[in-house]
Amino acid sequence: MKGYRDTQADLEEEIGRDVENIMRGNDVRSGRGSAWYDPETGKGSGNTAPARGGCGRTGGGAPNTSRRGGRAGGPQRPQQPGRNAGRNPAPAQRADGRAAQAPAPSARSGGPSLIPGMEDSGIGGPKKRKSEPEPSRTPYVFISYFFVLIFVSLIGYLVYFNVRLKDDVLNSPYNKRQNALAQVVTRGELRSADGTTLAYTKTDEDGEETRVYPEDEMYAHVIGYASNGKSGLESLANYELLTSHYNLIDRIINEFREVKNPGDTVVTTLNHELQEAAYDALGSYDGAVIALDPKTGDCLAMVSKPDFDPNTIEEDWEEIVSDSGNSQLVNRALQGAYPPGSTFKIVTALSYLRTYGDADDFSYDCEGTYTLKGGDEVHCYGGTAHGEEDFTGAFANSCNCAFSEIGLDLSAGQLRETAKSLLFGEKLPIRLNYRKSSFSLEDSSSDFKLVQTAFGQGDTLISPYYIALLASAVANDGVVMQTNLIDHIETADGDFVSEPKRKEYKRILSSEEAEELKELMEAVVTDGTGGKLDGEDYYAACKTGSAEYVKADGELGTHSWFVGFAGEDEDDIGLVVAVIAENGGSGSGTALPIAKQVFEAYY
Ligand SMILES: [Zn+2]
Repeated sequence: MKGYRDTQADLEEEIGRDVENIMRGNDVRSGRGSAWYDPETGKGSGNTAPARGGCGRTGGGAPNTSRRGGRAGGPQRPQQPGRNAGRNPAPAQRADGRAAQAPAPSARSGGPSLIPGMEDSGIGGPKKRKSEPEPSRTPYVFISYFFVLIFVSLIGYLVYFNVRLKDDVLNSPYNKRQNALAQVVTRGELRSADGTTLAYTKTDEDGEETRVYPEDEMYAHVIGYASNGKSGLESLANYELLTSHYNLIDRIINEFREVKNPGDTVVTTLNHELQEAAYDALGSYDGAVIALDPKTGDCLAMVSKPDFDPNTIEEDWEEIVSDSGNSQLVNRALQGAYPPGSTFKIVTALSYLRTYGDADDFSYDCEGTYTLKGGDEVHCYGGTAHGEEDFTGAFANSCNCAFSEIGLDLSAGQLRETAKSLLFGEKLPIRLNYRKSSFSLEDSSSDFKLVQTAFGQGDTLISPYYIALLASAVANDGVVMQTNLIDHIETADGDFVSEPKRKEYKRILSSEEAEELKELMEAVVTDGTGGKLDGEDYYAACKTGSAEYVKADGELGTHSWFVGFAGEDEDDIGLVVAVIAENGGSGSGTALPIAKQVFEAYY
């Protein structure tokens, strides 16, 4: 038996010869009793080369540890003709090239070739390879690499699928596995960030499951429902609620006992105290309240009225869907389409600042009515004459007459461009159903339509969520964050599972623009329509709005708007609130006090 050093020396010697042969254009495989063998990959055709005597192989060809590719019964190093000659005859090379794959006789037995006639051919390998050039082995090397590449790619994809794609695929509404999960997992709990249970599944003695919403109507739209289709967070977090990261051993035991495992708990970003304050403050008004943390994008409260009781959604379904006048199922915070009223003056003011650089030279003397060239008239809310105003004063007073003048100083194109840059008509960063903001102003539009649009009437439509996003950008140095509704996921017994990353969605204002708009909104509190927020022990800035619209019966109605933010101080703004109270009248009269109750619940 050869020692390691000997076989290693042999190997090196062989490799040296192989290289030499290759450089000479000879095929190291051929004519040496070796079937195809690739020294690079160690692959071969199986029972091929005769072993060299005394190599210490066991029957069947046990691996020779000093050599690559030495699998049991597998390929062996090609034999050098010189050494091999006289010991183990090599198979002949056949004209069709298949000889290269023909098994050679066993070194031990010296038995017959598996291919009859092989040994009898009488043509010795060594003779052949000396006399004629051998075919290249490049195709075999190429094929070997090809299969290695496919294998590595497959492994890579499996890893990528498990790490990155699995949840997307499983979350897809087209994936039937979600329904299958409900057969083995009890739907998990939805909870507020401050620990209030918002939805859970009760299982009775017969195994009958009921989804329970302890807060009844308060979270109807944002938490949603899980029967008759799914909505809100019940839909958004469906996969997480039906996934169990419960204690592994208990989970396996439960699976053997065919007992359902408890689904994960989804801890939402919703703050129960704020939600309750918003729900109570909106009172009997139809409309919506939404509260966002501008720095993280977390949604802290989302109320929509009229509402419904998700506990009895199945019984009430027919009645709810047939009551089209109320649209109870519509989440007005996200899907409402309202004229923005004076909240749109944030957009117009920015457009003016972008066009003229600053508004230092602007001044206007408001007499309560603005008459356009064609004779059309515009009035300030309630016919108030605001008198002499600079740009900030016009914004703080929400002066329609001054903003008509400002609108005429802008073109339809400039206003349209500004609106688009502020996400009008664009996708919004939330994973629940929402309505895009819409804006309609053509170059050919009349001056009357231009001024109406400039102060928030015209054909513009927004949702409370949209205006809250815009205010969030003002409060967050110009950056809109991705809106989050899920704070984190934990197991049914409270162990942390995962949390979504808080991500920047888009910068829609420069830092300077954000600062300028913030100052305008501060002036609303200190010197304008937001005076009810002045002198509180928290910082606040806002814009109010009174949006006129034509009711179904032809009468004129006014929706009450508020959008604003508050913080410990102006550099630490933690809460943006938008309120719409349908038919609430003036923004400062109705929507502002609703928002104030939300601020007070937080600060
Ligand atoms: Zn005015």
